[in-house]
Amino acid sequence: MNDAQVEALVEAAEEGVETDGLRVPHDGTGYGFETPEVSHEGLSEAEFRTAAEESPWFVSNWHYWTHVVGGPGSARYAFLRWVEGADDHDVPERYEALSAGTDREWGQLSITATLGEDGLRRYDLRHEADTGVPEDELEGYVDPLDARRIATYDDEGRYRPLSTAPTLRTGWVYPDLEGAALVEAVEFLYPATVENWHRERRGELDITHFRETAERQTGIYSIVDQLTVEELDAAAEACCVDSQCLKRRMWDEDEETPLDAPRGEEAFPCREPCSLLVTAARKFVTLGREETRSYEFELTPTEKEQVEEIIDAVAEGRVGAIREADLNDGANRYRARYLRALRGGEHGLSNTPTYPEDHG
Ligand code: SF4
Repeated sequence: MNDAQVEALVEAAEEGVETDGLRVPHDGTGYGFETPEVSHEGLSEAEFRTAAEESPWFVSNWHYWTHVVGGPGSARYAFLRWVEGADDHDVPERYEALSAGTDREWGQLSITATLGEDGLRRYDLRHEADTGVPEDELEGYVDPLDARRIATYDDEGRYRPLSTAPTLRTGWVYPDLEGAALVEAVEFLYPATVENWHRERRGELDITHFRETAERQTGIYSIVDQLTVEELDAAAEACCVDSQCLKRRMWDEDEETPLDAPRGEEAFPCREPCSLLVTAARKFVTLGREETRSYEFELTPTEKEQVEEIIDAVAEGRVGAIREADLNDGANRYRARYLRALRGGEHGLSNTPTYPEDHG
């Protein structure tokens, strides 16, 4: 706490103050000063200043939330309070915790709030996988705008078309952000997540369901409304579950028709089908136009299971992690090549033509 904060409190006392357990009533005959620990009334200005100086945590906490963060009711204000658990812990508990560092996770982000000078908060932002890594071993950032660049490519240098996919790259840190800059950086990494989380908490999240989104599509995307509810469920299972996207899906086919695909567990909601989902839906519609056929394949039981393992490995994105020496994994490269060499042929799997009528 510093003199300027006490000065600001004296000024604010005229209007009355009530923040996180600090109450400063003023009735014209004198000042009051109340916290869960002390209660004074009828104080002169000098006595009021002394009382304030004896409760420095409450005063600096009041000053931080009213004069530094400001904008009560805003998404930024709510998010910063959530970061330090302000609605669940009183000021002394929070100050104790902040002295050591309070950690929160937001998708793949790890946010650590600590106490700076005079009750100011400082925030460390990094990938959760880099928790505990010394700052000098990570690429340091200051400008929130740079978070856009961090979000663009994954650890393998591949472009990330979906900002909330769980593929955020590691190896970077914002070691010392102010509150406003923290929220800005988070919003560059995961656009609109703080805003939508806040709307949801206030019961104001406006959800646009799939049919409504589909009806609005034009041009090559106008066919997405042909997706059946079963196909839409499969599409949500393919694109929206936590292993593919960290947003928690709140939209369904329409208000009356919930989908079975898991919604996800993360804090921030998805309020409408995104462009990636719509693009995928278009492809799924064209695939669904084909009639099924019956084929007869000659495979051993193990080979059949191997085909299923390969599909699983591709669907879960774990092909790159399968070691060349791990020949027990059906999706191992040598096992797949062996299957192709043994069971492949001029006409594909088990030498069975895709269109037998074209082959006499
Ligand atoms: S529609 Fe699905 S993939 Fe797209 S942002 Fe929402 S949850 Fe994620």
